[in-house]
Amino acid sequence: MASAESDREVSSAICSEFLRFSAKDTASAWLQACDLHKEVYQHLALYVPKIYCLGPNLNPSSEDLLAPLLLLAPLEWYLFGEEPALALARLENNSQPSQLCGHVFKVGEPTYSCRECAADPTCVLCMQCFLGSIHKEHRYRMTTSGGGGFCDCGDAEAWKKGPYCHKHQANSSDCSLQDPLAQLSEDMVARGYNIFSVILKYAVDMLTWDKEDLLPPGLEPPERGDTYYCMLFNDEVHTYEQVIYTLQKAVNCTQKEAVSFATTVDREGRKSVRFGDLQFCEQAKSVIVRNTSRQSRPLKVQVMHSSVVAHQCFALRTLTWLGHILGYSDGLRRVLCQVGLQNGPEGENSSLVDTLMLCDSKMWKGARNVYHQLLMNSLLMDLKYKKLFAIQFAKNYESLQSDYVRDDHDREYSITDLSVQIFTVPSLARMLMVEENLMTTIIRTFVDHLRHRDLQGRFQFERYTALQAFKFRRVQSLIGDLKYVLITRPTEWSDQLREKFLEGLDAFLELLKCMQGMDPVVRQVGQHIEMEPEWEAAFTLQMKLTHIITMMQEWCSTDERVLIEAYRKCLAALSQCHGGFTDGEQPINLSLAGHTVDTIRYQVSQERVSIHLPVSRLLAGLHVLLSKTDLANRFPEQLPLSELSPPMLIEHPLRCLVLCAQVHAGMWRRNGFSLINQIYYYHNVKCRVEMFDKDIIMLQAGASMMDPNHFLMVVLSRFELFHIFSSADCRKRYRDANKDVVQQNNTLIEEMLHLIIMIVGERYVQGVGQVEASDDIRREIIHQLSIRPMAHSELVKALPENESKETGLERVIGSVALFKKPGVTGRGLYELRPESTKHFNLYFHHYSRADQSKAEEAQRKLRRQNGEDSALPPPSPPPLCPLLASVVGLMQSDVLLAVISAVLQWTTEPSGGHWTESMLQRVLHLVAMALLEEKQQLENSSGDDDITFTFNSKISRPGEAPSTSGSILALLESLQNAPHLEAHKHMIQWVLKMVFTIKTMREQHTASTSAVNACGSVEEAVGERDKAERKRKAEMARLRREKVMAQMCEMQKHFINENKELFQQSNEDSDSPGSTTEHSALLAEGPEVLVCVGPRLPGPGPRRRQVVTCILCQEEEEVRADGRAMVLAAFVQRSTVLSKNRTRSPPDPERHDPLFMHPDLAFATHTASCGHIMHATCWQRYFEAVQAKEQRRQQRLRVHTSYDVENGEFLCPLCECLSNTVIPLLPHTHSGVGQGCVQPSLEVWIKSSCQQAASPAGPAGSADSVPEAGVEGAEAPEGSSVDCPISSPFSSSIQGMITTFGTATYKIGLKVHPNDQDPRVPIMSWASCAYTIQSIERLLTDEEKPLFGSLPCRQEDCLSSLARFGSACWTAAPLVTVQNHFTRLLSALVPGVKADNTPCILDIDMFHLLVSSVFSYSSVQRLDQSEMCSLGSAQLHLLHLATVAHLVQILITSVPVDSLMDQEEVCGSEEEEMTFHLYNTLRTLLDSMLPEVSSGWQLWRCVQSGLLPFLRSAAIFFHHLNAVETPPELHVAGPGQWEALCSYLSLPSNLLQLYYNLRTVMEPLVQGWCSHPAVRQTVQGGAPLISFPRESNQLIELPDDYSALINQASSFTCPRSGGDKSRAPTLCLVCGALLCSQSYCCQTEVEGQDVGACTAHTYSCGAGLGLFLRVRESQVLFLAGKTKGCFYPPPYLDDYGETDQGLRRGNPLRLCPERYRKIQKLWHQHSVTEEIGHAQEANQSLVGIDWQHL
Ligand SMILES: [Zn+2]
Ligand SMILES: [Zn+2]
Ligand SMILES: [Zn+2]
Ligand SMILES: [Zn+2]
Ligand SMILES: [Zn+2]
Ligand SMILES: [Zn+2]
Ligand SMILES: [Zn+2]
Repeated sequence: MASAESDREVSSAICSEFLRFSAKDTASAWLQACDLHKEVYQHLALYVPKIYCLGPNLNPSSEDLLAPLLLLAPLEWYLFGEEPALALARLENNSQPSQLCGHVFKVGEPTYSCRECAADPTCVLCMQCFLGSIHKEHRYRMTTSGGGGFCDCGDAEAWKKGPYCHKHQANSSDCSLQDPLAQLSEDMVARGYNIFSVILKYAVDMLTWDKEDLLPPGLEPPERGDTYYCMLFNDEVHTYEQVIYTLQKAVNCTQKEAVSFATTVDREGRKSVRFGDLQFCEQAKSVIVRNTSRQSRPLKVQVMHSSVVAHQCFALRTLTWLGHILGYSDGLRRVLCQVGLQNGPEGENSSLVDTLMLCDSKMWKGARNVYHQLLMNSLLMDLKYKKLFAIQFAKNYESLQSDYVRDDHDREYSITDLSVQIFTVPSLARMLMVEENLMTTIIRTFVDHLRHRDLQGRFQFERYTALQAFKFRRVQSLIGDLKYVLITRPTEWSDQLREKFLEGLDAFLELLKCMQGMDPVVRQVGQHIEMEPEWEAAFTLQMKLTHIITMMQEWCSTDERVLIEAYRKCLAALSQCHGGFTDGEQPINLSLAGHTVDTIRYQVSQERVSIHLPVSRLLAGLHVLLSKTDLANRFPEQLPLSELSPPMLIEHPLRCLVLCAQVHAGMWRRNGFSLINQIYYYHNVKCRVEMFDKDIIMLQAGASMMDPNHFLMVVLSRFELFHIFSSADCRKRYRDANKDVVQQNNTLIEEMLHLIIMIVGERYVQGVGQVEASDDIRREIIHQLSIRPMAHSELVKALPENESKETGLERVIGSVALFKKPGVTGRGLYELRPESTKHFNLYFHHYSRADQSKAEEAQRKLRRQNGEDSALPPPSPPPLCPLLASVVGLMQSDVLLAVISAVLQWTTEPSGGHWTESMLQRVLHLVAMALLEEKQQLENSSGDDDITFTFNSKISRPGEAPSTSGSILALLESLQNAPHLEAHKHMIQWVLKMVFTIKTMREQHTASTSAVNACGSVEEAVGERDKAERKRKAEMARLRREKVMAQMCEMQKHFINENKELFQQSNEDSDSPGSTTEHSALLAEGPEVLVCVGPRLPGPGPRRRQVVTCILCQEEEEVRADGRAMVLAAFVQRSTVLSKNRTRSPPDPERHDPLFMHPDLAFATHTASCGHIMHATCWQRYFEAVQAKEQRRQQRLRVHTSYDVENGEFLCPLCECLSNTVIPLLPHTHSGVGQGCVQPSLEVWIKSSCQQAASPAGPAGSADSVPEAGVEGAEAPEGSSVDCPISSPFSSSIQGMITTFGTATYKIGLKVHPNDQDPRVPIMSWASCAYTIQSIERLLTDEEKPLFGSLPCRQEDCLSSLARFGSACWTAAPLVTVQNHFTRLLSALVPGVKADNTPCILDIDMFHLLVSSVFSYSSVQRLDQSEMCSLGSAQLHLLHLATVAHLVQILITSVPVDSLMDQEEVCGSEEEEMTFHLYNTLRTLLDSMLPEVSSGWQLWRCVQSGLLPFLRSAAIFFHHLNAVETPPELHVAGPGQWEALCSYLSLPSNLLQLYYNLRTVMEPLVQGWCSHPAVRQTVQGGAPLISFPRESNQLIELPDDYSALINQASSFTCPRSGGDKSRAPTLCLVCGALLCSQSYCCQTEVEGQDVGACTAHTYSCGAGLGLFLRVRESQVLFLAGKTKGCFYPPPYLDDYGETDQGLRRGNPLRLCPERYRKIQKLWHQHSVTEEIGHAQEANQSLVGIDWQHL
């Protein structure tokens, strides 16, 4: 405590000194001084330690007050030479606003980029600029900023179009040429220069200062105290929990403080955790170091002298100050830039900015952030100095990157992150490339950091360590930088640029060479591999480089000289890699079909093979460019084409493709998943462009340069299939082969045929085929959509993205697909246009086998539907480019013909596994392709002579191979009718027809007529047969369709039955398991009016039997009072859905008296049921089994379930609906209705009820038995119930279930422990019945549905059983308790009845009162047998009383707008007159506290609309209670309801008559109500008025544009941590509160547990239930209790009808009102918890989430 005392003394001493201080004087003293530096330092040395760091708190508010006065003011005076405020205002007026926006983004702020106009995806706009730009009409992308980075508005290089918004447009004209210094006086420039030099030097000195105890010269404090800080620094190694735990131990703080320390350390990068003398701090340090060094390297802690910390704090402050001053003047900004970049005494690279950058990784986060921000405000905003800074940045590049790699902070805190601001400016990037050789530097730096190599110098990732992996991850950011440099292709090349680019390419080739052949694999035979080799690193590298490789090619394509040179270099690199291609293999000689070739003996299945061949693939890419630009034709002499060795080019790509084929054939099973994964990624959309695709191209290039027969023989040999096709008798191959080998070979043959199809057919890349740039993407889309209709995002995912994350999808999608909008669920889908199906190719090279078979199925189905045959011939391919044109020769080569002929020969024999259908299919496809080729050539040629492609004639001539029996054509003809080839029949026919067509064409060409007739007749016959066949097929298809339709119809019916809820169908189907079979015989008395209450209730009629089926044992059971109990699965939950007051605090569970419900309905209990019925015993057995299973499961492993067994939750055994109790089914007893009885009038009834209530036998006499807290009322007063033993009408099993449900409602509704003796038990189930009816009534009104007939039967069943339960539940409670309740309820309506704590009628929800009093009256009636039969009239009396009371309530609470519209005063109706009169009576009773009105017109409307929900609820209630049929008038919505409703309720339609016809009874009651003191209080404004009707609560209104929400959330700060941005701002959809979710800072304790802001909010806002929108994730969050939650699709959709959960795609999002309404409906229906349950059941990972922390 002593130290605190001295603190105060010091500060008071300073205060007086401070008062004497004059900033102006100090500044003028400085102006005179010869050594400004010394003067200023002296001043700082004196004052800084007096202001900063005087106590344990590092940032007290006094600093914010004192620093500007004592430290900054003199600086400003010096700078301006006048009052700073004036000077700044003047500067602001003079300087033109910058043409750059430069707005620096906060975390979470929305940023916008234009997909059409942005130079690259890093160019972004702030919301302000975006809204004022042309891009808001374009296709834009929206993201949330991760903080840092700034708005590029005004940067002409960043935008292809519209670089300025409205605001920044104005200044774009001239000022860029102006020197900003011209605006300032020379004097000020000089002073600015002086003072900025000193201050910036000071800041740099302090921030880069690494001594803990000393200060730089000139800053030593005049006096030094023994005051130190123990400073804890951030690292990314230790977790939050570790730090919190350590701190609690080391500095003895509470968990809360530790959390706060840890949060600050994480945010600021450092935090003082202890203040005191040296020893005190050292002690804490050693504890922290000891505690954290066990797991990893220790946390960084320093004990620093307070003066050092003080100067550091002020240094940060000066940087902020500088940034602030710059904002006023471009001139001063330039001065600061000059100061910052001026070289220091040490010469090159010694400017202050250099010093800062080079120390970057040594500074703490907070300091880095501040100076980065200043750099962005100064150097990056000044176009001249941005360039100079860029040069310095590039000079230091290597060193900065190395620092970054060693550091462990995230890149956003590193100076290297500024590369995006510099390198993405094309002019700067180009300049740095030329002048600083940036491209080479980046690549070299990257290669330097990757040191793990094998003997040949190739990268070796196989067994690299965690540390290497970590470094590898960090190094990858260099690739990002390279991408920035290359992202804009040059439009003009200078010689220097060529030179430097090619130098960079050299470096790049060095990198690729290290990758060529890396991570080779060898086939594992015998044993499975022991350890899966590491493969991910190599693929990560490949993936990261993919775009770079593509961009390199694009750069090359823009300049012919560069392209030629690059091609040479690449070829040289490839030769170096493979030093000739043989790698020491033995040469062999192969011959087949009369051709011979030399190759090497190499088998993929036995030797090393690698998937990584980037050099070969780059060469393939460049080769295509040569072909595309036609360079090879124009300058063949400049190209090293003669050096090309085609066998060498194809060798390695071919091995790689063979490897894939062998993996497919199952030959590499023992090599494990590592290889499977590699093959997967080789074909994956992320890699294939620079892997698989390029290998195919390389084979195409090779094939174009080789003799086709030679090429194919090499292929056969590498596939290890040569012997099969070369041996004399092909079928010999089966003689001694086992089944596995046969199968393997079959697959290999299939794969090889597929490869040939691809080599010949894939011509959609520019340069391979003669196509447009967009043909490629169009074809991809067609083939994706041939599988099935897809959503936009699915398509995007299936397409390769370029470096700007664009696929080009939008440019072509419209031409091939139609968009179908989504409904309330699902998403918008693209469907292939019918005319595009003709481009479908079954052997599309990007199909996986699974895709292929799906597409095949889909396309065949489509053809069937269109009545076409099932053949799927190839589409006509585009022509090849000249350089590759000779590839077509493959199709008519002798070797291929031999292969085709062999396969066809095999297929003639149906038996055995010697061939496969896929094989045949592929051969037919190849034949078809060849025929199409010939047809095209014929079509495009003028004369016959130039057609070299003569496939047709080749297949017609008999085979030359020794075994061949006939020509291929003959084979095909014989196969077309083979029964075992039925599936291929159409395709064979297609081929034969094409053969004929070509023949005809040729004949036309040659004008020869010979042999036409012979062939023609055959062909015609074929044609005729075809036609008949097709007709038959079409007919069959029609029949099949009809059958399918019928089936679908049936299925639909079934579906509707299963999902009645969805279709809102009334219950007609009486034998579905859930429904009760209860149909009373129609009453024959036609004209009798249906009433649901009162003595005129229809008689019992024939005895109704209710027979139900148990869903568990399937037995039928009749519902009888003395029978076995049947129960409905039910879910009881607390609800605030109808609440009109969300500020009310939750009721205290123990003391709350729930008898009277307040009309604000703030907290209530809702009951729902899925309607499934079980025997009580069956259910109990089921539940016990669930419990037991859960216990076992918990013991074994801590798996959570979606339901909480300990709280009685279970899933309905049939529909898996979340339930937590069961409602017993009770029979309806008609005992109460007796026409013959004397029906007492209201007056008589009131009198007798009053007497009963007051009777000595009645419990109301004893004052203490009025249950208040619910404890003492439990014991039944002796005597009263003993002498009147009541036997329950129910069997014991039913009785038990009555207790079960009653207790459950009580337990959940009040959040208490179960206690079936508590007098509040029956009240809770009555209230739940009332509330459930009210909420259903609201739903029906909101949806404009009729009152009856529109509810799903499960709700009808639930209401019936609730109503009957209510009337029977008194049997489970002590009689007196219930009677007591009745007495108290009655006292609210009949003020004559004495009871304690009766609320006034304004504080009572009348419907709850009605329901409770009707239920509790049952017990009163039990007391006196003589009144048995008058139950009906008692119900009616209670209804009358409640109605009149509600009427009065409405008249008092309605605030009539006394409009001038009611001119019809004179001719007011009877109702209006009476209302008017009654209102005035009330006014008199309340001493004119109610406003005066002039007529009853308005009042009557208020009464009608106010009463309607009550009457409707009452009708539902009595309908279910008394099981009366419903009148047809109420089965339709719309007008005329009022009369029908009143009549059904036995009420006069002029409800005022209830009052006027019984005035003698009513008047005293009304007087009594009004005389309650609370009424006057409320009317006078003592409490908020609830007016009727209560409107349904709506979820909050959401903006149409989602970015408005993001913007709103980005300015939201955490309410607990002083202006800090919230990381997960979350919006409550119920009340609109914004919360700081999922963060330590806003955790609160609820019921003894720390919970996140959302969970805490649900307790006050939704009784434990919450609906939220996580703004940054664009995700709806449902929470229920602490353990349940799920995510739900947001109501925001993009233009493609898709949501964007996680905001990953960034398409603009708009509100979809239908979806929002659906969410609201879930809430209104109380189905949110059920929704969570279903979601959790469907996705188990949701169960494991700690929802309470959100
Ligand atoms: Zn902007
Ligand atoms: Zn702008
Ligand atoms: Zn645009
Ligand atoms: Zn059963
Ligand atoms: Zn169910
Ligand atoms: Zn809320
Ligand atoms: Zn917070």
